[in-house]
Amino acid sequence: MCLAEGLLRIPDDETADRLIADKIASGNWSAHAGASHSTWVNASTWGLMLTGKLIEPPKLAREETTSWVQGLSRRISAPVLRSAFRQAMRIIGGEFVVGRTIQEALDRSAKTSELSLCSFDMLGEGARTWADAERYRKSYEQALDAIGSQRKGTPIDERSNLSVKLSALEPKYDLMHEGLVMQRLAPIVGDLARRAARFDVGFTIDAEEADRLDLSLNVFEALARDKQTQSWQGLGIVIQAYGKRAPYVIEWVAALARETGRRICVRLVKGAYWDAEIKRAQERGLSSFPVFTRKVSTDISYLANTERLFKHRDVIYPMFATHNAHTIAAVLELRPPGAKFEFQRLHGMGALLHAEAQRQIDGFPRVRAYAPVGQHEELLSYLVRRLLENGANSSFVNRFMNESVPVDTVVEDPIAALQAADSMTNPHIPLPNNLYGASRENSSGVDWGNPQQLAEQIASLQKSGELPHAAPSTLVGKIESTPHEVRNPANLSELVGYVSAASKEDIALAFDKAGQARKAWDDAGATHRAACLVGAADKLRAHRAELVRLLVKEAGKTLPDAIAEVREAEDFCRYYAAQAREHFAEPTVLPGPTGEDNKLSLRGRGVFACISPWNFPLAIFLGQVTAALVAGNSVVAKPAESTPLVAALAVRLLHEAGVPRDVLHFVPAAGKMFGEVALKHPALGGVCFTGSTSTAQFINRALAARDGAIVPLIAETGGINAMIVDSSALLEQVADDVLTSAFTSAGQRCSALRLLFVQDDVADRLIELIAGGMNELHIGDPSLPSTDVGPVINQSAASKLEDYSKKVTQKGVKMLKQCDLNQVRTEGSYFAPRMLELNNARELTSEEFGPILHVVRFKRENLQSDVLAAIREAGYGLTLGVHTRIESVWQEIVAEAAVGNIYINRNMIGAVVGVQPFGGEGLSGTGPKAGGPHYLFRFATERTLTVNTVATGGNARLLSLGS
Ligand code: NAD
Repeated sequence: MCLAEGLLRIPDDETADRLIADKIASGNWSAHAGASHSTWVNASTWGLMLTGKLIEPPKLAREETTSWVQGLSRRISAPVLRSAFRQAMRIIGGEFVVGRTIQEALDRSAKTSELSLCSFDMLGEGARTWADAERYRKSYEQALDAIGSQRKGTPIDERSNLSVKLSALEPKYDLMHEGLVMQRLAPIVGDLARRAARFDVGFTIDAEEADRLDLSLNVFEALARDKQTQSWQGLGIVIQAYGKRAPYVIEWVAALARETGRRICVRLVKGAYWDAEIKRAQERGLSSFPVFTRKVSTDISYLANTERLFKHRDVIYPMFATHNAHTIAAVLELRPPGAKFEFQRLHGMGALLHAEAQRQIDGFPRVRAYAPVGQHEELLSYLVRRLLENGANSSFVNRFMNESVPVDTVVEDPIAALQAADSMTNPHIPLPNNLYGASRENSSGVDWGNPQQLAEQIASLQKSGELPHAAPSTLVGKIESTPHEVRNPANLSELVGYVSAASKEDIALAFDKAGQARKAWDDAGATHRAACLVGAADKLRAHRAELVRLLVKEAGKTLPDAIAEVREAEDFCRYYAAQAREHFAEPTVLPGPTGEDNKLSLRGRGVFACISPWNFPLAIFLGQVTAALVAGNSVVAKPAESTPLVAALAVRLLHEAGVPRDVLHFVPAAGKMFGEVALKHPALGGVCFTGSTSTAQFINRALAARDGAIVPLIAETGGINAMIVDSSALLEQVADDVLTSAFTSAGQRCSALRLLFVQDDVADRLIELIAGGMNELHIGDPSLPSTDVGPVINQSAASKLEDYSKKVTQKGVKMLKQCDLNQVRTEGSYFAPRMLELNNARELTSEEFGPILHVVRFKRENLQSDVLAAIREAGYGLTLGVHTRIESVWQEIVAEAAVGNIYINRNMIGAVVGVQPFGGEGLSGTGPKAGGPHYLFRFATERTLTVNTVATGGNARLLSLGS
């Protein structure tokens, strides 16, 4: 239903705040209850009564567990501790999980009055593989069969029911894979819903992250339109009050219910992943948060949406999930006479409160427990979430159980609390755009869960106007009469543009002119140069569609990779501008004896040759160039042979932003020829190089052979990057991070994971998860949003990788998994991602620049000898990943590792400018780190100026000090 498109855009902060403010000011939210602001007074009083009359809270399971473990630890020994923890898990598990199997859960429900009505939830992480998804599907089927066989004939609202997590049934559950989701997942959920309908059991679709909301609504709409289940009253959906779109979703659900002629159940929750939503929005550079930033705003939103649900009570059956006494009381105040609804609570939480409410209040509605079912190994992340939730200062449950918090504070009216605050939004949570404070603006990103933004990105890939033609910016010689064609590596039949290569004369002339122009540029001052960079950043933003198109078509980047690269380029410009303003604009005044002024200033070194690779043809290219420029140098920039078009556009934007043409020269040329001229040119003041270690070594030797001034070389090179996984790691998360780190960008990132060390105890399961994840990789044309892995840069790169793979497998290296290329629909330079198993890490001696993952098993006791020593011996030091839930393990690894960028419990790619300055050591580079606070200094020379201020006769300053 197209309602979703029009209505479900995330409102900007102002609109969202207005929604809340309106509720506060007008009182119209409570129209149905015929109440006004006094409703809140009533709600608070009711809440007070409920809370105040509560009986002594029982001991928390946590306390019980702690004393149990403490008792045992006096007789400490490893087996005893293990058994203690097992016992602790059992106790805590019992508190939050109803049973290990659905049968166990139903048996417990039959025996326990507070669990007599449940919504069962099959615990577990979202599916990573199709096998996982199948397992979940079967467990949902079994659960429905088991629930359906009980209390037959009872009205549906009085029976236990099932909650279903769509991401558990589909490993590719995101909007980028919408086609697949609708084709593969929707029929499966449809079958489950029909099964539930046959048993007349309720079936509620759980909420997912905000960026999956549109997708979930599409799937839900398909379920609602199923004629076979139209008369069934059990179809339900969860709506999160912390989401700014909640009221729009309710309206949409109500409209859908009316249109399809069915009742829809809506569970209103506050929302469980607030912290993750805030972080994701900041990382993605979104324009605002999809959720409210204050807890009280969510509380108010909950109540406003309560009223909205009641308004649609003819088609919606509301299910209010809350453990907050004030919210319960307010819902009761707001209920229109005769409205049907229920309360829900999580098993392990809120039981006392609801029991007391049922005891005190006549006609209190039924209460259903959301009841997780699962094995202990699936319990941990759920438990951590619950404990965090209970422990948060803003949590009602936490404050309620804390005896030092007075009762009237516990049931504080959220409207009063918000009115007392200085601002509607939380000032401690910066908007994504303001993440870096006043010094620089953050780059803006794309919300990949927003259908409109996704459609805009796809549309931006359409060709516009003439094909671009990259040519040297200083043209002597002739432009070749037949310039080279640049073709799309994903689709060789597609011509993307043309390039005319620079001749030796072009290169030499570029250096001559740059040499002449450099002093005026240096003298122009850092403030002026920084302004040019900020102007360039704005232009990058304005030309994003064009840049993205070239990155996809010329370099084979996927859409998310291309957007991330434009963002990185923009960040480099703004970051180096800010650094230059801070350190280069004014000299540093140094301390010294009276009668003398001492100042240190930073100046450009001359002409920098900037030589970049094809794998980040915009970000690395521009990062090098802008750093050199802003430090006061002129630049001759050489793009990689495969990617001149996007680099040419970047240079054009810098020129348009005010960098003089003679200060920045663009020279597309073959590397060897460029080196022959550039490295010998007398105007050369320094080289900034990113590429392979062997080319860096060649350049280093060539520079050493020069006569005259010794110039610096800044080199960022390759690596054999490792990830170490121990047996405590959360394997689902490891599998995600391995797939991202090894195969994103077709493995053509210098930071990409090449060598995975996995502790042998968990190796089989992890390999199974990774292989299952590889099965789900979509390989093909990166201009399709569903593509996960595009081509490698050209045919020769693909052949090199094939040769390597053939050679090592012939020598006995085991092929654990190779992806299928049959899915590829275009003729391009594709290489099937693969996973190989080595017996010994030392078998891998070179950086294989593509989607090849090597796996090595290790024994915990050999971490030092088989893992850390092997990494050290290889001599590289670019990136390292570690996955462990034991802090001392990663600390031991970090202490030993000579590696530039280390990532703990996350993926190891995608360093962010100014946040994770990037660059390696050893064979991986000279430093300093790109996008870091020390980078610009290497492009500068230092000059001190000492002025004897008393040369004219006396020290006036000293004499005027007085006594
Ligand atoms: P490459 O070394 O072949 O080429 C890099 C650049 O050097 C190209 O522009 C090339 O034309 C130029 N070049 C080649 N020979 C030259 C010579 N004799 N004189 C002057 N210039 C010459 O590397 P590539 O294949 O383009 O890039 C992939 C490599 O880059 C990988 O090893 C990867 O790890 C590395 N890389 C490192 C980083 C980092 O930040 N550490 C980032 C990206 C890529």
